Amino acid sequence: MARYTGPVCRLCRREGIKLYLKGDRCYTDKCALERRNYPPGEHGRVRRKMTEYGMQLREKQKAKRIYGVLERQFRRYFEMAERQKGMTGENLLRLLERRLDNVVYRLGLASSRAEARQFVRHGHITVNGKRVDIPSYLVEIGDEIAVAEKSRNLVRFAELAEAAAHKTPPPWLELDLENMRGRVLGFPSREDIDVPIKEHLIVELYSR
Ligand code: SF4
Repeated sequence: MARYTGPVCRLCRREGIKLYLKGDRCYTDKCALERRNYPPGEHGRVRRKMTEYGMQLREKQKAKRIYGVLERQFRRYFEMAERQKGMTGENLLRLLERRLDNVVYRLGLASSRAEARQFVRHGHITVNGKRVDIPSYLVEIGDEIAVAEKSRNLVRFAELAEAAAHKTPPPWLELDLENMRGRVLGFPSREDIDVPIKEHLIVELYSR
C-alpha cells in the first residue's frame, strides 16, 4: 500500500499542530514546529480566513497524516465506518486505531506510527504467533501482538522497551513488556483516543 514519503515536519507546519510523526525528535527542541510555527511555502505567513469547507478539509488531512493513510484508503475506512452501527466519526477513528501499525505504536513498541509501520513491513511483528506484515491489518479483541522472537534481541527493541517502561498504554490495550507483547482488551471508546481531531467535520465533508 502506498504511503507519503515527502518531508513530514512540513505536514505538522501545514496543520499548525504537532502530529508526532518523527518519534523521539518530536519531543525535543529540534521539532520544526517549535522553530517555525507557520505553514510552509512562500505565502505561509499570510493569514487567511478559513472557510467552512477549508476547516473540514484540514480536519480530514490531519487525520490522514496522523495515521499515515492516503486518500483512497481513508475513504474506504469512512465507507466501512458508515456501514457500522453508531456514530460514523467515532467508528472511523476506531477503525484507524485498530490498524496494526497504530497498535504497535500505542503499545510503545515503536516511537512513531511510521517506525511501527516499518517494523510490521519488515516482519518484526506477530499477531497470535503468526508474522503479519500488513500495517493496515485490523486487530480484533483478544489478539496478541508481539515482537517476533528472533527480533527481540535487536538493540532498537531494547531501547524501546526501556522507554516503554515509563509509559502507560491506553486502557483498551494490555502490555507485557518483559515478553514484548500486548493484548487487545476491547475496542477504544472516543475518550480513549487522544487525537486532536474533530471527526464530525470529516463526516460533514464526505456528506457534501
Ligand atoms: Fe511534527 Fe515531529 Fe517534525 Fe515536530 S519533529 S514538526 S512534531 S514531525
